[in-house]
Amino acid sequence: MKKLVLVVACLVVSVGALMAQAVNRKPLPIIDVHVHAMKVSPGFAVEMCPWFLKDMPGSDPTQNLQTSSFLNKDCVDPLKPAKSDEEMEKAVLETMERLNMTIVAYGDPQILRKWKKAAPNRVIPGIGVSSPKDMTVQAFTDSLSSGFYKVMGEVAPQYQGLSPSDMSLDGYFAAAEKLNIPVGIHMGTGGNGMANLTQAKYRASLGSPFLLEDVLARHPKMKIWVMHAGYPMADEMIALMGANAYVYVDLAGFIWSYPQAEIHAYLKRLVQAGFGKRILYGTDFMVWPKLFETSMSVIENADFLSFEQKRDIFFNNAVRFFRLDESKFK
Ligand SMILES: [Zn+2]
Repeated sequence: MKKLVLVVACLVVSVGALMAQAVNRKPLPIIDVHVHAMKVSPGFAVEMCPWFLKDMPGSDPTQNLQTSSFLNKDCVDPLKPAKSDEEMEKAVLETMERLNMTIVAYGDPQILRKWKKAAPNRVIPGIGVSSPKDMTVQAFTDSLSSGFYKVMGEVAPQYQGLSPSDMSLDGYFAAAEKLNIPVGIHMGTGGNGMANLTQAKYRASLGSPFLLEDVLARHPKMKIWVMHAGYPMADEMIALMGANAYVYVDLAGFIWSYPQAEIHAYLKRLVQAGFGKRILYGTDFMVWPKLFETSMSVIENADFLSFEQKRDIFFNNAVRFFRLDESKFK
């Protein structure tokens, strides 16, 4: 009888310990490598339906296209934008804590510094240059040398009508290479009708992953990740990664704008071509706080990926790419 009591008591204690562990356990860490730290502007802070690019309407140049119509609000439960910088910061901090998430963020320097101050261990700051008009090579080098910025991004010459291998950008890449700073370059889709709407210099052809070959050859120690995974140019992306062993991709942007079947098909293609260890999770976060979870659900729902493959995308690949200390995430 005594023995039985002891066994029962032991069981109660160990079940209790297990439950306490389950309650206290943090979610497995996530690294989002593509977050825009933006000031909330009333013009852009509109509701948005994820996966809205499911049909490309046959518009006409005589119609007056609007950015807001491009974002499409025609769904049951559109994502709500943050209405102020304070609301945004609160939501981003709360989400990072709850999801055990670290972000690589870039954009407005003031917003970025505020976020970094509020969550020093969860924010990895980046600084982007997309055209020589943004800043001089010297100013850029000084910014990198200050130690605040750990990443060069988002670099988006495609929107400026420039190839990433254009020599006018070479000095910036040389600085990043010299200082061992990883570089994120926008390659691929800009959404539907970008060239008509707001970005007259945008060219789809300048999102060709092959355009990176010259800059990679000139800077063999530079580590780059191709933002938006060069979508939809899977063949070129696979060929480029095959030839260049240090090139990674992120899934940002297209993960919440194109239909899920299309996103899964593209992701599956990259994984089955053997690049599961070179895919980084990224949102292309802008103004909608729930966008983090919306985008993550696309990876969670990818039943062609194993648990380990999902963990690689959400975390392990970014630790390796950014040379982070894994023990700091425990
Ligand atoms: Zn981008």
